[in-house]
Amino acid sequence: MTEVLHLIGGEWRPAFDGATFETRDPHDNSLLATVARGTAEDGVAAISAARHAFDEGPWPRLSPKERAKILHAVADKVDEHREELALLETRDGGKGINQSLHAEIPRVAHNLRFFADYVSMAANEAYPDGDLLSYVLYPPAGVVSAISPWNAPLMLATWKIAPALAFGNTAILKPAPQTPLTAHRFAELALEAGLPEGVLNVVHGFGGEAVAGPLTSDPRVDRITFTGSSATGVRILQSAAVNHTPVSAEMGGKSANIVFADADLDVAVPMSIRAIFAGNGQVCLAGSRLLVQNSIMDEFLERFVAEAEKLAVGDPKDASNFLGPLIEQRHLEKVHSYVELAQEEGGKVVTGGERLTDAARAQGFYYPPTIITGLTNSARAAREEIFGPVETVLGFDTEEEALRIANDSPYGLAGMLFTENLNRAHRMAARWRAGTVWINTFFERDLRLPFGGEGSSGLGREGGQYSRDFFTEPRAVTIRLRG
Ligand code: NAD
Repeated sequence: MTEVLHLIGGEWRPAFDGATFETRDPHDNSLLATVARGTAEDGVAAISAARHAFDEGPWPRLSPKERAKILHAVADKVDEHREELALLETRDGGKGINQSLHAEIPRVAHNLRFFADYVSMAANEAYPDGDLLSYVLYPPAGVVSAISPWNAPLMLATWKIAPALAFGNTAILKPAPQTPLTAHRFAELALEAGLPEGVLNVVHGFGGEAVAGPLTSDPRVDRITFTGSSATGVRILQSAAVNHTPVSAEMGGKSANIVFADADLDVAVPMSIRAIFAGNGQVCLAGSRLLVQNSIMDEFLERFVAEAEKLAVGDPKDASNFLGPLIEQRHLEKVHSYVELAQEEGGKVVTGGERLTDAARAQGFYYPPTIITGLTNSARAAREEIFGPVETVLGFDTEEEALRIANDSPYGLAGMLFTENLNRAHRMAARWRAGTVWINTFFERDLRLPFGGEGSSGLGREGGQYSRDFFTEPRAVTIRLRG
């Protein structure tokens, strides 16, 4: 693939002014494709196409079963092209091939099938009350802007697109500029599978005044679903407020992972390794503040550091590597600057902490698993989202103290805790200010559950009925029956 264009109203188009940008492989910085660099005019054209498809086209008027049939056909295409899509994801974003092939691309197909079936099977309320019968309709909201990040590109794009389309909306997807390739290929496959023209539009480029500007400020947009950093989320909320367009925002995190002395360390150690180092720590849900009960700190840390040092770091196309490159040079510099900051704040780098520049990795943006001790929760490195393979380890003595530290954060996306004491686990879950709490596990997702965050981690929830609430305009209907 050498050229990525916008998809607007079923047509593949360059940017209005012909501008392009490059997407490169973070493993060796080689050029993968040139991509249409969208202007505000491209954003406006995509909104017009989605609006037309919603107001005049068949999609919102198909029955849920008819829409489900097409979305299942799109999911079948994703399955048929799983290896191709996984390799694209791995080359464009540096995601380990195991993760792309066995987790993220299968989840793309699951997103589509889950919401296709959810819409046709969800119950609608009806309230018979004497000679009054009331019921609720869930018509689609209209045109949806979906703005997605680079860290799980197609999985997160379809986490938005699948419910938006299943509930009868039309959509404009703007993937992150670092990782446009799978969205492009997915759009081709969706058209082949029979998705009507204009139902899914894809525009590429950057935020703010460029292509994403109209997606958040045009009054013809009815919903904005965004996943990305908290700073961008605030800008989008401000832009959307002018037209009071509802926004669902899934944003950053600095989630606590709490290991109690009674935890089964054979479970807690490997899970804690995955919680921070899977996906190079470029995961919103990463357990990036590790709180360990002081009575087991030495034993835990010894095992945790030993496991981290065993993790292979290298070409993400090689399935034996656990960590690949970070997404880009600028991000690597940001990650490393936090490690330097942590040291200035009194932290000790126990392992890692320097870019990997040997011959095999010199062209890529490789950073090793890095573990820092000696900080308190007031250090910036322990509070701010680093979004890299960097774990800050803090100690605690009591359950109350652990909960206080966990909740002492501007973020509230997720939390995980390891304990054999179920009473404690329930007590903690009830008082933990986080959208998701995992107990003795990590990263498990049932798509019926609400997904989202508190505080700077987000606004609103998606998943199952929560996606229905967001992507539809619930309408109360009341009839007076005559005898
Ligand atoms: P980002 O905020 O830089 O970009 C996200 C998307 O927003 C991109 O498509 C970008 O082009 C677009 N954008 C940027 N400025 C914009 C503007 N002013 N208006 C409209 N769109 C704009 O985030 P990123 O670096 O791509 O992703 C990493 C961040 O995403 C991390 O903070 C991570 O925690 C967060 N994230 C959150 C979740 C979640 O579910 N809560 C999941 C994944 C990633």
